[in-house]
Amino acid sequence: MSNRQQITVLGATGSIGVSTLDVLSRHKDRYQVFALTADKRWQLLALQCLEHQPRYAVLVDSAHALDLEAELHKHQCPTQVLTGMAALSQVSEASEVDLVMAAIVGAAGLLPTLAAVKSGKKVLLANKESLVMAGGIFTRAVTEHNAILLPIDSEHNAIFQCLPNTPHIDVKKLGVKKILLTASGGPFRNTPLADLIQVSPEQACAHPNWSMGKKISVDSATMLNKGLELIEACWLFNVKPEQIQVVIHPQSVIHSMVEYIDGSVLAQMGNPDMRTPIAHALAWPERIESGVTSLDLLTTARLDFSAPDYERFPCLALAEAAAKTGGTAPAILNAANEVAVEAFLSRRLGFTKIASVIADVMDNLSVTEPSDLSHVQAADQEARCMAEQLIKQSSGRS
Ligand code: NAD
Ligand code: MG
Repeated sequence: MSNRQQITVLGATGSIGVSTLDVLSRHKDRYQVFALTADKRWQLLALQCLEHQPRYAVLVDSAHALDLEAELHKHQCPTQVLTGMAALSQVSEASEVDLVMAAIVGAAGLLPTLAAVKSGKKVLLANKESLVMAGGIFTRAVTEHNAILLPIDSEHNAIFQCLPNTPHIDVKKLGVKKILLTASGGPFRNTPLADLIQVSPEQACAHPNWSMGKKISVDSATMLNKGLELIEACWLFNVKPEQIQVVIHPQSVIHSMVEYIDGSVLAQMGNPDMRTPIAHALAWPERIESGVTSLDLLTTARLDFSAPDYERFPCLALAEAAAKTGGTAPAILNAANEVAVEAFLSRRLGFTKIASVIADVMDNLSVTEPSDLSHVQAADQEARCMAEQLIKQSSGRS
């Protein structure tokens, strides 16, 4: 049992965290959970600790740390409870840890994910926002500290699987012509444009193919998610935005494709279930069972493709512009989006206003080349403040 790999799961109580623990529970002979972390959901974290018996549980929200401790004590669970943001980095960089699943949502994931990279771990990256915000700093740290970065986002994991089997690929040397980044088009692919103004958080979070956290569900509905993924792909595979084509593929069976200069197009397919990329990255370069059912192509019957509609999805155009501008532009886009999505989810902002807020913030802030992390964090803060102000003004007007 002693040669089991030790894993920290950041964001254990979220959609990716729960799927990760499901895969891990099928392979207790291979993996041992070192730490589980959550923001607020202490009851679910307690249940997860009872099952996986990690050394540490981190609850960022200290208000319920005593409740969590008492619950674990009641069941004689030896897990030690830590609180606060610094503890997230502590359990990511601990010397015992081999693997870190980075599945916190949003900018909050940046520091603990970077801590894992800087201590040379095998990092399973679901938290795309950290790469979007600080891609240059992040990828330099991967090289400098000999970390291994494996993509969990289903599209990036698919692209990775369609490339030669080695991390940190320089696609320029491999004859790659372009990347075809597939997108389902979300719940509003065919909704009449005029109806989008009244879309509710419940409608936006009801994704047709994937079950995910609220923030990424809204991002999928606006297609800002595909824009974040385009930026993510540029950093992961060292390509320019112009080498990536976004393709709407409503069935979500092909998870993305790579076209080579000889005309070959390789695709990775499977049922839309995040346990496939999670199992792939966990065991890479080996393969393990994930619990995902077999793809039945006869039931799928057809695969459709179309071009994205930029009038319907202005957020995609904004993200593509940020990708081309570079510097702090993606961090500004990401921060404005996080604030706008939060406001939409709490019914302070209309669905179509998410794009307006991002556009206004991007128009008003100047972009610079970030020299270090504090520079990125300053751009993030400035964009958040401006987005909040714009949202307050717009709710004052309505
Ligand atoms: P989620 O909302 O379901 O879970 C988020 C997790 O992060 C929870 O465990 C929560 O406790 C934790 N968290 C939230 N705010 C935090 C904070 N301030 N500090 C510390 N922890 C905090 O989200 P999810 O859908 O699991 O997505 C997680 C990440 O994975 C996101 O970056 C998302 O873009 C990416 N991703 C998700 C999917 C998916 O299918 N869900 C697919 C691809 C990529
Ligand atoms: Mg994705």
